[in-house]
Amino acid sequence: MYTNTNKNTVKVATTAALLLCVLATTIDGFSTSSPLSSSTAAATNTKNRMNMKPLYSSIVAEPDTEIEEETKKASFLDDGFVFGLEGSGLDRPKGKVSQLVVEGDTLKTTDQQRVIVWGTLLGHLSIASYSVLGILQNTEAVAGAADPLAIGLTVLQAMSITLTSWALADLGSGVLHWSVDNYGNGRTPIMGGIIAAFQGHHSAPWTITEREFENNVSKLCVPFGIQTVLALKFVFGLGSYSTLFLTVFCLMEILSQEFHKMSHTTKSEAGPIWNLLQEKGISIPRKQHAQHHIAPYDGNYCIVSGICNEKVDESGVFRRMEHIIYNLNGIESNAWKLDPELRKRTLNGEYGLPTNSHRTSFKAAQSKAAKAAKSKTI
Ligand SMILES: [Zn+2]
Ligand SMILES: [Zn+2]
Repeated sequence: MYTNTNKNTVKVATTAALLLCVLATTIDGFSTSSPLSSSTAAATNTKNRMNMKPLYSSIVAEPDTEIEEETKKASFLDDGFVFGLEGSGLDRPKGKVSQLVVEGDTLKTTDQQRVIVWGTLLGHLSIASYSVLGILQNTEAVAGAADPLAIGLTVLQAMSITLTSWALADLGSGVLHWSVDNYGNGRTPIMGGIIAAFQGHHSAPWTITEREFENNVSKLCVPFGIQTVLALKFVFGLGSYSTLFLTVFCLMEILSQEFHKMSHTTKSEAGPIWNLLQEKGISIPRKQHAQHHIAPYDGNYCIVSGICNEKVDESGVFRRMEHIIYNLNGIESNAWKLDPELRKRTLNGEYGLPTNSHRTSFKAAQSKAAKAAKSKTI
């Protein structure tokens, strides 16, 4: 029964993600003009930014003191700004240097974060236990009350639902990661904080390793909290099987940031348990996630276990969605802006993740552009 539900869930999730991206990319804060015009946009937007409270700290100069300098640089507040793009005004620090990109963000765990995270986890655990009880009642109705067979079947069903949900949560994390990496910025309503954190992560990947558990996962308790599970259960009248699936799915999405964090740690920092989880493929392995951190950040988006990455990248589903979004509203993904070759390939209908050759040409183009910019300033 839950197999069909899962198939439907995947279809609904993919369609919903696409619809959300199309809808969201048409509103302010998602508007992304051509990257080539980013420095022009910076110049014209300087006046507006002077009245704006900076959303990010530590990477953005105070508008009233650095106006002259800012006219030359794009800012994260500009439409078309892409972290890591030449001339973005944001350089990736060398070595393991942490860098906060959202104003008000801190590496210190707050009491509020502790309450939100542990309240959410306890809530999910309660809903999951209640759902397992519902499955037991269903099974007992067939096998007989207090029958050991009913208990065994319940455990088997609960375990297979949990496993399926864990596997599909990897895909879900990929869809979420792809969407926030490629569309929107810090001004985007509701998701702005998550978008800024994900996009800024490419410029300061080590920062995540300095976050404690609650600090690291608290942002995801908003879209994947108990309120989401209860709302969907109520609206769609979900039964015990679907509710257990959904609860585990949301739990995994929240924990995905912790799995992600551990993929950035060294073996000695992670400890034996996390190392084992990564070796067994239960948590996203270091080497695999390192592939995502190669510009233009166009693949390996799944960050729960990573088991879906290869198939998803080969299928080219994200490039296909980017092409559809572009055809509908003219918005280009950040990956396209970072790699014109990728843009060209996608527009030609070549959706599968290209070989490393395009990355090489991208890097060559980048260093050529950097040299040209240097010679201009001399
Ligand atoms: Zn990313
Ligand atoms: Zn990462």
